[in-house]
Amino acid sequence: MFPRLFALSTHKEGSVFEFSIAQNIRDRWQFNFRRQILEREQPLVESLKQCVEDYHISTDNDGWAWKWDKGGVFTVRSMYKVINHEVTMTGQPRPASFPCDLVWQLKIPLKTKLFFWGLMLGRTQTVENLNRIGMQLDVRCKLCGGGLESILHLFFHCSFAAAVWEETMHPLGNAQPDPRLASGVQEWLRNWPVATPTPLGEKIWKLTPYAVIWTIWKKRNEWIFRGRTCSVQRVCMEVRWYLWYWMAGSVLRRNHHFNELIQGWAFHITGG
Ligand SMILES: [Zn+2]
Repeated sequence: MFPRLFALSTHKEGSVFEFSIAQNIRDRWQFNFRRQILEREQPLVESLKQCVEDYHISTDNDGWAWKWDKGGVFTVRSMYKVINHEVTMTGQPRPASFPCDLVWQLKIPLKTKLFFWGLMLGRTQTVENLNRIGMQLDVRCKLCGGGLESILHLFFHCSFAAAVWEETMHPLGNAQPDPRLASGVQEWLRNWPVATPTPLGEKIWKLTPYAVIWTIWKKRNEWIFRGRTCSVQRVCMEVRWYLWYWMAGSVLRRNHHFNELIQGWAFHITGG
């Protein structure tokens, strides 16, 4: 709720108890910031104080609890209910347009679903989003050394990402959509072209845009945090690898070999 104040806090992991200096007096909360609060930031502090003023806390130590399960413990089931049916994470009624079908019905690992959920909500920690909450990072995209690293740039408009899409979609010839014209993740996934492939190819093709986006994100992180650069060909190879791995539980994968995704990609995608 107060990203600027959070960025300035000297105690970001502090518990509620630690910020409370006394019981039953009006100004009983204490917040420490790493510099003097500016005049224009003062209203934020006042509004934070107003938010917490009416809360009365016990003197017991506090701890983390998962509010969407009666026992206070995180379960995938309760998470799924929140996401799929009832309320948003802030307790508001869910907008009808939330793209549950684009994320939660897929047979991909949970951590990948969580990543896509954040992506749909525009919360992926790109440099643009991190700077918005108070960090001061170099805004240039590491993959191309060019534009501002926003969600749209990193996954679609970036020349590196566009080359990965092109290589992946090449069996479609002129029918390939242009990632440089993409206006959003949801729009791109909803308009993903239909191919007429083999039974294995059909399943793989539906997961392909997810594998491309996921692999670009993984490679971007390796590039930034471990200094490991990589080529478009390497990313394309890993896209195939993720697809193969995500299909591990499917009977359609039986009697096929990973090498087919390398040698016979066009065959599996277009069926001919
Ligand atoms: Zn780029």
